[in-house]
Amino acid sequence: MREQFEVRELDAGGRIGELSIPRAGVTVETPALLPVINPNLDTLSPRRLAEEFGAEILITNSYIIHQTDGVREDALEDGLHELYEFPGAIMTDSGSFQLAEYGEIEVTTEEILAFQHAIGSDIGTPVDIPTPPGVSRDRAETDLETTQRRLERAEAIDTGEMLVTAPIQGSTYPDLREAAGRHANATSLDVFPVGAVVPLLNEYRYAEVVEIVAAAKRGLGADAPVHLFGAGHPMMFALGVALGCDLFDSAAYALYARDDRYLTVRGTRHLDALEYLPCSCPICTKYTPNEIRELPDDEREEVLAAHNLHVTFAEMARIKQAIRAGNLLELVDERARSHPAMLDGYRTLLDHAAYLERSDPVSKGSFFYTSHESARRPEVLRHHQRLERLTVPDSLLLTDGDAPASYDAENCWRVEPPFGPFPRALSKSYPLTAEVPDRTDDAALTAAVDGIETLCEAHPDTSVTFAHHGWPAHVLEGVPEGVSLVDLGKN
Ligand SMILES: [Zn+2]
Repeated sequence: MREQFEVRELDAGGRIGELSIPRAGVTVETPALLPVINPNLDTLSPRRLAEEFGAEILITNSYIIHQTDGVREDALEDGLHELYEFPGAIMTDSGSFQLAEYGEIEVTTEEILAFQHAIGSDIGTPVDIPTPPGVSRDRAETDLETTQRRLERAEAIDTGEMLVTAPIQGSTYPDLREAAGRHANATSLDVFPVGAVVPLLNEYRYAEVVEIVAAAKRGLGADAPVHLFGAGHPMMFALGVALGCDLFDSAAYALYARDDRYLTVRGTRHLDALEYLPCSCPICTKYTPNEIRELPDDEREEVLAAHNLHVTFAEMARIKQAIRAGNLLELVDERARSHPAMLDGYRTLLDHAAYLERSDPVSKGSFFYTSHESARRPEVLRHHQRLERLTVPDSLLLTDGDAPASYDAENCWRVEPPFGPFPRALSKSYPLTAEVPDRTDDAALTAAVDGIETLCEAHPDTSVTFAHHGWPAHVLEGVPEGVSLVDLGKN
């Protein structure tokens, strides 16, 4: 067990956890948002982040501090906490991003970790190699090799109480990401950023992000705190959390504000395009769009950054509440409607339903069928797996309605889209209490038929009849040949 991270609550792959950060003397509840502080540009002061926004942890770049005369000396003399007047935990990046941008940097892993320790960082980062998407496999492997040697060196350095991250690379090769996860997990390092996803996020390639994170998670243990490095847009937090990411950092709140961009959970809007402010944060209740447009540049940037951060923290709270209530996947489904590329991300997440099923609680509040994607949720998969284990009578009548009066209930099971058949005694148990629209869709009916198929394959000696109310022929094609079909007509 990694003693500094404890998972408290689960929903799909998402979790509420507690990350203890000994050097800061604080415990941060995850999923957590780390606002990025640029040491040279103070859009919102760290103190304000703590007092006004409730930020418990932030991230800043130790390489920029190291390379900036004056700032470096102040940081060494006073320490980051005093310099920033920030009471929470401070994580530092190492300059890997600069390495990816400019091709070289002037520090080694040993030097930058020693520097991060010296300036009072609570979570430090080695210099990994952020390999961009789509490079040759040779390059991805060579880069990963270098990153792994540096993690092994980082492991050997005495950093006192400072936690140290083990970034996971491997470009867009899921097997390399998985191997990187396994290697990192075997080190004694503490926090696991999935790196170099920013180019994919910038191009809305959410499906590939999901594949990469799912692969890294397969390699890491369930008790490893995972940081989706560079993912700061609130639109995709629910998806990232459902995959099992625990930490997110946002430079977006400030970067977008600089370009007059206004964040919403449904995407980014340009200030010029806004006639209304679809938000009730302190900024949006104080100003009209016109008033913001008329502010001087620096004030406008500050005001937009504050709104962007409010909306970002609010989404994180909404996600945590969804995990508690057991409806995180309903929230992911909702957010997936914001952009077709988000829908691709959600559909890719559901390709990993078997992985999500392993952490998904057996019982939750209520399953809402909100789109045809719901038919692929882990709860449906789990029900189908359960059908293989249930005891079945020699002769079974399946109906999509009530049992006929002439029938013994034990021999007449109910069929409910999207789950399929189940003994009526189970009808009050999760997820069979699901709320499903009366006007159901082919995906739900097809998933129910898949359930009938699973049942028949697991119990080949049972004679099965399915009496239904006008199910379409193209859906019923999936019913195994040995099953007798009776059409009772439309309900
Ligand atoms: Zn607002």
